[in-house]
Amino acid sequence: MPRIVVPEAEAILDREYPVLDHGFVRLVDYLGGDGRIVAAARVSYGQGTNGAREDKALIHYLMRNLHTSPFEQVILSFHAKMPIFVARQWVRHRTARLNEISGRYSVMADEFYLPAVGQIRRQGSGSKQGREPQDLPQELQGQVLEILKHDQSSAYASYEELLRDGIARELARINLPLTLYTQWYWQIDLHNLFHFLRLRLDSHAQHEIRQYAHVMAQMAKAVAPVAFEAFEEHVLNAARLSKTLKERLQKLLRSLATTSPDAADILSDLER
Ligand SMILES: Cc1cc2nc3c(=O)[nH]c(=O)nc-3n(C[C@H](O)[C@H](O)[C@H](O)COP(=O)(O)OP(=O)(O)OC[C@H]3O[C@@H](n4cnc5c(N)ncnc54)[C@H](O)[C@@H]3O)c2cc1C
Repeated sequence: MPRIVVPEAEAILDREYPVLDHGFVRLVDYLGGDGRIVAAARVSYGQGTNGAREDKALIHYLMRNLHTSPFEQVILSFHAKMPIFVARQWVRHRTARLNEISGRYSVMADEFYLPAVGQIRRQGSGSKQGREPQDLPQELQGQVLEILKHDQSSAYASYEELLRDGIARELARINLPLTLYTQWYWQIDLHNLFHFLRLRLDSHAQHEIRQYAHVMAQMAKAVAPVAFEAFEEHVLNAARLSKTLKERLQKLLRSLATTSPDAADILSDLER
């Protein structure tokens, strides 16, 4: 099989997509696409190539039934720039390979994240991790921004002073805050990228990392549109039921099934 070239992915290759105030994501390269997933799956089933409809059905079948290894045959490489606090959440996804800028070798740029007005909110009362949905008054948001800006410029001024005094870069940088931007090359296979996206597109993930996940989701969609559609259908927008909830739902549907063909259909899907 020749190397898979996906026109939609070629069109976005190497283009910087801005995220937050100074960040970006760039798709550096990709290997494979929907065709590679199908070819890999057919090797394991010992079948030849079929038409587009069968290929799509196969990809949906694989996703629905957690036959995930064919999705690992597709690889995406990103170049991304993000605040360090975003990088700390991102790096928890261990099934990727990365190379990050080194503050021991390089002088870190004077680039810090400041939340956009509208994103500065109080601690959420309903969740231990999140923010309140309501905006703070503009004046209060302005005060928060001033505090953040002041601390950032003071930390960077001290960093520069230590560098001027000849202090080692690896030491001069240690008081720089989590809002400082870092960047890395990050390579991951499509199965694990979907896992990353499921967790980081979720409303429970922090707003800032979600912005990166949104851009990367579009990139994954460009590389493997059918696989992405299957991911949206069977994983991203699907729900997992507990045993108890499933049993309650089955009981309800059984009571409706005698009079409603829809209920009978849903019941049979649920018990498949
Ligand atoms: C909303 C949200 C809140 C979070 N809050 C916290 C928090 O408060 N504190 C905190 O520490 N983390 C937190 N995390 C991080 C979370 O616990 C996971 O570390 C992170 O989401 C990566 O998930 P993962 O391990 O499944 O992914 P990956 O590291 O990509 O791993 C994918 C899968 O591979 C397997 N795997 C990979 N490496 C190993 C290994 N070494 N051993 C065994 N199996 C492995 C696991 O099955 C894993 O699910 C949070 C994540 C989210 C999305």
